[in-house]
Amino acid sequence: MSGWRDKAACRDMDPDLFFPTTSSEERLALKACAQCPAICECARYAAEHDRINGYPLQGVWGGVNRTRRRNRNE
Ligand code: SF4
Repeated sequence: MSGWRDKAACRDMDPDLFFPTTSSEERLALKACAQCPAICECARYAAEHDRINGYPLQGVWGGVNRTRRRNRNE
């Protein structure tokens, strides 16, 4: 595991939280990201890996949801 993941706020959290299906779940994920000491590294990773195995990166990464990430890349 790389260094930034070791200090991630979500490290011991339920991963499903970061693949929200409701706006309230998404708010919780974004709140966790806002307090995360690894937010910059995580956001950079997401920007550099916008597709994994040919599929768009899903979920919340670096305080950004999929819709915002997609809009940034267009
Ligand atoms: S920014 Fe969010 S998704 Fe990324 S490591 Fe931190 S808590 Fe996890």
